[in-house]
Amino acid sequence: MIVAQNLIKSYGAAKVLHGVSLTVAAGERIVLCGPSGSGKSTFVRCLNGLEERQGGTVEIAGHCLSADCANVLALAGDVGMVFQQFNLFPHLTVLDNLTLAMRRVRRTPHRAAEEEAMAMLARMQLTEKAASYPRQLSGGQQQRVAIARALCMKPKVMLFDEPTSALDPEMVKEVLDVMTDLSCQGLTMIVVTHEMGFARSVADRIIFMDRGTILEEADPETFFRHPSHARTKEFLRQIG
Ligand code: ATP
Ligand code: MG
Repeated sequence: MIVAQNLIKSYGAAKVLHGVSLTVAAGERIVLCGPSGSGKSTFVRCLNGLEERQGGTVEIAGHCLSADCANVLALAGDVGMVFQQFNLFPHLTVLDNLTLAMRRVRRTPHRAAEEEAMAMLARMQLTEKAASYPRQLSGGQQQRVAIARALCMKPKVMLFDEPTSALDPEMVKEVLDVMTDLSCQGLTMIVVTHEMGFARSVADRIIFMDRGTILEEADPETFFRHPSHARTKEFLRQIG
């Protein structure tokens, strides 16, 4: 479902990804963690064409993404992304946030898009918020709307970049619960997160990035009990 080979990314003279390779099978759930500045966001942004890269190849959801991301629109709909800061359209209602991409990208007719969006909102227990604007929602509700909006496109792959780190502690659980639900439904997921409880219970594989490379990858049991690298041990100590 995802094959990234030898990704190289620089910002000017600063090299941020030093040849990162990762293969993710259909239905696999990956948790990506690592210290601040290690390149996690840059890596997932390269996967869905939000960042051009200087080297390497990306194949995702059946598309070969060119290095300059010229064909990024081909990915729209097949790869969903959820950000730390929700990124909802502030001037659109919750319902319109959900239907916009369906209508523009998938060309779903208005009525059908609304029906699908309402079904997705019901699944997220947000039916009564359909006519609200993002600013009228709690952080946890906004993030669930962002997830619902991505899911409406019926993506093959979902990328999450620290979806709970901007939330107040009491709202983290409601978002993690939704993501745990999704993980049971066969969706291919890469989740950048420091929520190690979630990682332990949901991930098939945990990837640890450090200074622009993948330093370690293992199943959760091995990762938490027998990390091989000193950097991984130190990271786990710090966040644990
Ligand atoms: P965090 O856990 O803090 O989110 P991260 O692992 O996601 O960190 P990235 O955001 O991928 O790290 O950043 C990796 C490196 O690239 C950092 O040194 C950062 O300063 C640099 N970087 C990221 N975006 C840019 C940019 N647009 N311009 C210049 N440098 C950037
Ligand atoms: Mg980041």
